[in-house]
Amino acid sequence: MAQRFLIVGSGFSGCVLANQLVQQMDCTITIWDERNHIGGNCHTERDEKTGVMVHQYGPHIFNTDKKEIWDYVNSFVPFRPYVHRVKANSKGKIYPLPVNLQTINQYFNQSFNPSAAKAFLATLADKSITDPKDFEEQALHFIGRELYEAFFYGYTKKQWGCEPTALPASILKRIPVRFNYDDNYHTNTYTGIPEDGYSAVMEKMIAINGITVELNRRFDPAAPPPGFDHIFYTGPLDAYFSHVHGRLGYRTVTFEKFYADGDYQGLSQMNYCDESVPYTRITEHKHFTPWEQHQQTVCFREFSKETTPDDIPYYPKRLETDKNLLLQYRFDAEQLKGVSFLGRLATYRYMDMHHVIGEALAFARSFSSAHREGSPLPIFANVENG
Ligand code: UDP
Repeated sequence: MAQRFLIVGSGFSGCVLANQLVQQMDCTITIWDERNHIGGNCHTERDEKTGVMVHQYGPHIFNTDKKEIWDYVNSFVPFRPYVHRVKANSKGKIYPLPVNLQTINQYFNQSFNPSAAKAFLATLADKSITDPKDFEEQALHFIGRELYEAFFYGYTKKQWGCEPTALPASILKRIPVRFNYDDNYHTNTYTGIPEDGYSAVMEKMIAINGITVELNRRFDPAAPPPGFDHIFYTGPLDAYFSHVHGRLGYRTVTFEKFYADGDYQGLSQMNYCDESVPYTRITEHKHFTPWEQHQQTVCFREFSKETTPDDIPYYPKRLETDKNLLLQYRFDAEQLKGVSFLGRLATYRYMDMHHVIGEALAFARSFSSAHREGSPLPIFANVENG
């Protein structure tokens, strides 16, 4: 008999899972989303005034090393070539990010070649740190205090609302340091932006017989709707348990939108690294679609703050206290029957789109094969418990 599944959340996790399960199993799927649109925080829509495709919840640039993930997303909507190049404003001067040979030469007023720059940075790096334990140690170990303070300290404090010493080194590991003039923000093989935006990709994923979407539907874990054989939950893990052990820490982002004529800043993303500037970055979204022409431009100043109960959670903080809480919630989740948890919010991790998609693809495979074989159904999409 056909299984009836409920997926809570229509971001990439929910949409990829629906797209796969309906093809791999005899099932019908209902997707609920509490917002009035699909796509979660990857939602895109055209700005009414300018016609520019806007990344409603902040910039998303697709990048992956995995051909199968690239081919999968491109099978719904073609992705156009887009290389993300970011500039940083530090004390009123503009530098390229990630830190590369241009940044180093410009900052120190030098003309180093790669090996000279490497040797120079080695003299600045804090050699007393052998095994960096936090964000600040990771930075001091690799680039030394001057570049850390110019580009990372203020931005990170604004972004995360705490001293960088309280943050894991893994956050900084997202950004490379290069001893050449490569200023591509990402290092992955495949990078691009979908021609018609991300929501169009997700719409296509779920435009299959057997999948229905209900918007403006809030899921209440205390009163799950009857009639479903299994529920896949992609919302915040602590919310599923009504925050009984306390709230997992998230940063949220707010935006100040403004318009200009022509080209406001000359590229899609300008970071403001000084603590004295209240926002972290300005994004100008027409530069995410260089194949389109727009006379006017729409930009967003991005501010970061602690998440309160009414805010949308963006970045999981993953401080030590959060990790302990996470263990308690994971333990509770593992006692449940008929519910699985996947995605950034339900597993409480800092994930890029390609991570989310890869994990949802793998989870669908393991769920459908466990169901076929009659073995225990997987509860979490990831095995990590820290
Ligand atoms: N970061 C920074 N200065 C910058 C850009 C990034 O200090 O100009 C730090 C900051 O802590 C940020 C982290 O590096 O959270 C990761 O940056 P990324 O650009 O990957 O963040 P995202 O685009 O996901 O917000």
